[in-house]
Amino acid sequence: MKIPLSSQWINAGDESAVLDVLRSDHLSLGPRLPEFEEGLARVAGVAHGIAVNSGTSALHLIVRSLGLKESDEVVTTPFSFIASSNCLLFERVKPVFVDIRPDTYNIDPTRIAAAITERTRAILAVDAFGQPAELDAIEGIARQHNLELIEDSCESLGSKWKGRRCGGWGVAGAFAFYPNKQITTGEGGCIVTQSNDIAALCRSMRNQGRGATCEWLDHERLGYNYRISDISCALGTSQLRRLDTIIELRGQAAERYNALLKDVPEVITQRVLSDVTRMSWFVYVIRLADQFMQADRDWLIGWLADHGIQSRPYFTPIHLQPFYVQEFGYKSGDFPITERVAARTIALPFFTMIAPEQQQEVVTCLKDGLATRAREVAR
Ligand SMILES: *Cc1c(COP(=O)(O)O)cnc(C)c1O
Repeated sequence: MKIPLSSQWINAGDESAVLDVLRSDHLSLGPRLPEFEEGLARVAGVAHGIAVNSGTSALHLIVRSLGLKESDEVVTTPFSFIASSNCLLFERVKPVFVDIRPDTYNIDPTRIAAAITERTRAILAVDAFGQPAELDAIEGIARQHNLELIEDSCESLGSKWKGRRCGGWGVAGAFAFYPNKQITTGEGGCIVTQSNDIAALCRSMRNQGRGATCEWLDHERLGYNYRISDISCALGTSQLRRLDTIIELRGQAAERYNALLKDVPEVITQRVLSDVTRMSWFVYVIRLADQFMQADRDWLIGWLADHGIQSRPYFTPIHLQPFYVQEFGYKSGDFPITERVAARTIALPFFTMIAPEQQQEVVTCLKDGLATRAREVAR
């Protein structure tokens, strides 16, 4: 592909930070781990960061540290990356989906109360594409019903809702560092929390259930190997030092797409609410207007690919993934707004160092595709 969907930004400082670790005596559980964790806790504005090997592991440890178990329910969104819901399935907790807002693509707070039952234990909010969910409203609902709030902030590193940092809402939040995220460690994730108890539990569970003294063969509880290496942490800290620049450049790239697409009536862009006091863009997703069908969207993705431009549907609704259909009996029509949006989305090439000329080329090709499709359908 001439223009990829995503591309990481690795500089000479990142490379030498990694080399330093390789030449040291600590490839894991060394000094780079607490350094990275402190940086991430600061981004979330909380006391603790517990770095792990993926965002999915971070979410799983949050679910376990809250003691959620079989027959418990957690209210969440079906329009997300599947890990935000799979982390519940790992513990046989039932995800109860609530439809999204058609403009922001985040869970619709006005629909949450109706989904709460006597089995509901928590609300798991996801900050879609970097835009915080309406976290103060959701926190209010959680408090009113005596529920925990978990924040999947894997897409919103550095975003703020009403001045308060993403990851820092609710009892705990999760960050993720796969190469398409705002910063990368190759693979990696982090739990961020204000709670001493959750932090201690997560630290133990990520390291085979070892106790605080870390005696190598003493295991206090069921744990996992969710450790992240010092190699990854050094890369993460080096990347984190330029987070402000990364957020700034991604914001400028999103603004350029917004401007280029302003006069394309077939395309709807994501609405960012004014209460988002800082937007850290993860992906840039457009949606075709309602007169288009999923087949038109898929055709356009093929058209872009034929012209060397990579794009992708973002997301496929979680409730329609085959094993969710099988296990919970979900079907088409259950969450109509999610399904209407999901059938029409296209994630365009978007990364920190994307050039304005590349974005111009993407939009020109997209417009050509729309015109070509219209002629073909009319014929
Ligand atoms: C990236 C992401 C995760 C975690 O992904 P990993 O690949 O496990 O790091 C979780 N939830 C959402 C919404 C994500 O976008």
